[in-house]
Amino acid sequence: MPNKQPLIIDGKVISEKVRESLKPAIERLKEKGIVPGLAVVLVGDDPASQTYVRMKAKAFEAMNLLSETFCLPGSTSQSELEALIAELNGDSRFHGILVQLPLPSHLNELDVIMKINPDKDADGIHPVSLGKMVLGADAPLSCTPHGVLMLLKYSNIETSGKHAVVVGRSNIVGKPIANLLLQKRPLGNATVTLCHSKTKELQSICQQADILIAAIGRPNFIDRNFVKDGAVVIDVGINRVEDSTAKRGYRLVGDVNFNDVIDKVSAITPVPGGVGPMTISMLIANTVYLAEKHTANN
Ligand code: NDP
Repeated sequence: MPNKQPLIIDGKVISEKVRESLKPAIERLKEKGIVPGLAVVLVGDDPASQTYVRMKAKAFEAMNLLSETFCLPGSTSQSELEALIAELNGDSRFHGILVQLPLPSHLNELDVIMKINPDKDADGIHPVSLGKMVLGADAPLSCTPHGVLMLLKYSNIETSGKHAVVVGRSNIVGKPIANLLLQKRPLGNATVTLCHSKTKELQSICQQADILIAAIGRPNFIDRNFVKDGAVVIDVGINRVEDSTAKRGYRLVGDVNFNDVIDKVSAITPVPGGVGPMTISMLIANTVYLAEKHTANN
């Protein structure tokens, strides 16, 4: 049965609501003379990473929060990068540290992440944060997965008892989303299936999803044959495809073929304008959370 009016989940509007909800906490901190601060480390000159870092800096500025970007050349060695992290760990202006990924291939990402003080893990990707998340303990949550939960929350989409199928098992997106949906608490309690490139019968598994989450990195991969009537579809994918009519020569598309599935779904996130805007809002949320935690401990 086609759905007449699917909900197009507006990540920009929800992202604004999340930022608005953080203002009282930011005010309370400012009354104590504390401005939540984020240090962003960018290595090399990958254009997409440069864009993300600029967007993050602008968002912090718009909220009157501190953010400083540390740009290192692509030739930076592991020890030079780790020395900067050590310095930032000790810099009290920064409550959060984010290393923009991916790093140039000669650098070991996990070793770098593990050098960040877990109490300053703004991206929620340090093993300590991820371990706490799995155990259901208080910790900064990975930004994109947390953003997905907030989209579901603000759209009044129930997860309890639902079958959620996550396609993609990366450490920063797929695995944490699956874990969060599994947690025994509100916005969790789903029955979760986690799929990847070796999954057999992917289409038929996806067809069973009440909530289908695509985090694959393949443009328009999920078409209507993967989608059950009335499903909620969350498209995490951000893929650049060439488009000579676009100003930049490319346009952004998701992992879901939006136009192909739209008449089958009950709700869907567009790309751009869905999950993307949430990631930065959750980064702000984590930085505020870490600043509050720091203040409570001092
Ligand atoms: P990764 O490349 O790290 O992971 C992709 C996952 O998709 C892997 O688990 C891979 O399986 C799986 N996969 C690839 N091909 C298939 C296939 N044919 N069938 C089933 N599974 C497949 O990507 P990320 O998780 O980092 O990112 C995923 C997407 O989300 C990208 O488009 C990225 O740009 C976007 N993204 C968006 C963010 C946002 O803010 N909105 C933030 C981060 C990412 P296997 O493990 O077997 O290789």
